[in-house]
Amino acid sequence: MNFNDIKSLDEGYVLQTYARNQIAIDHGQGATLFDTEGKKYIDFTSGIGVCSLGYANEAWARAIYDQAMRVGHISNLFYTEPYARLASKLVPAAGMAAAFFGNSGAEANEGIIKVARKYSYEKYGQGRAVIITLKNSFHGRTITTLKATGQDHFHDYFFPFTEGFRYARANDMDSLLAQAGEDVCAVMMELIQGEGGVNPLDRDYVQSVARLCRERDWLLLIDEVQTGVGRTGTMFAYQQFDVQPDVVSFAKGIAGGLPFGGFMTNEKCRSVLRSGDHGSTFGGNPMAAAAANVVMDALTPAFLEEVREKGQYLRDRIAALGSPYVSGIRGMGLMLGVGVQGMTHKELKDRLMEKGLLCLTAGADTLRLLPPLVITREELDQGLDIMAEVMSA
Ligand SMILES: *Cc1c(COP(=O)(O)O)cnc(C)c1O
Repeated sequence: MNFNDIKSLDEGYVLQTYARNQIAIDHGQGATLFDTEGKKYIDFTSGIGVCSLGYANEAWARAIYDQAMRVGHISNLFYTEPYARLASKLVPAAGMAAAFFGNSGAEANEGIIKVARKYSYEKYGQGRAVIITLKNSFHGRTITTLKATGQDHFHDYFFPFTEGFRYARANDMDSLLAQAGEDVCAVMMELIQGEGGVNPLDRDYVQSVARLCRERDWLLLIDEVQTGVGRTGTMFAYQQFDVQPDVVSFAKGIAGGLPFGGFMTNEKCRSVLRSGDHGSTFGGNPMAAAAANVVMDALTPAFLEEVREKGQYLRDRIAALGSPYVSGIRGMGLMLGVGVQGMTHKELKDRLMEKGLLCLTAGADTLRLLPPLVITREELDQGLDIMAEVMSA
């Protein structure tokens, strides 16, 4: 099928909930993609931070195939090796105590909200269920995670929303303290707000929040759905902030492109959810877990160092463009936001796509770059050449 055939099926039969780019992706290799018309693109998106090992990674595809030929799925009423092996690698790498596996970021965040509320309920009883989240955050699309998301426009139409969320300004302890109270059980935040515009939190602020949480026995819930699993150049972003969450969620990059997500708790919270309290039909699916094991095996210390180096290289080269359209560069590792001025972020994204570079947008004016973690220098340079062509004065 060519682009027009696919687009007409989409328009005929699919809910029109996405502002899709006007190309259809056909296949790829590494960080290079091809559309159905044969045009080549350098990929600075990884889906949305999902395809950590790029496209058509041999070991990843082989692991999925091999697992599919053994047992592709069986319920969580049985043990299987892939999820158990995955947990044994992920949990120590995160400095946590135990994991729960589900399928998506929103589902993972629903889980961490449940942990916080049950922890508090068992220890303090009713009336202590409020979770403070940050303005400009993004935590997902379910009714509860929409309400957890600190952006007003996500709180339209779908009433009634789940109660028990209050919002504080990021990087502002006074604003957080203004939302404090006897009814609070947790603070939930991204360390780099992704959808909100690639806004990293200040290290001092994050450490102050962690301290306050300890003092008041609030759980520190960190949403690493976008920042986690190597994206920022460490296994989890909190490892660069010198804090340890009580519960951390992850999803996007964990299985390199298969739907997978989950959360981990520390020792204090490992027994909060017990038999019957939580579950997920597809959670820990053997094929997805086999794929995640390949991702985890790839994330060696040397690989993570390369992620940091490639991120720094990308930053330096974009800064060196001296582009009048760039107002600033933010982020960590291969999660970067380029502030756009002089045209809209969507306009810039479209012009780059036209020339063969795929990027994302975020917030009101940010071009968001989330290349596959395996992107080569050659691919980075090809993408940067396109940026130079489109963004020079
Ligand atoms: C993408 C994202 C989510 C939602 O993940 P889904 O898999 O789309 O449900 C939640 N939190 C953050 C920080 C995200 O970036």
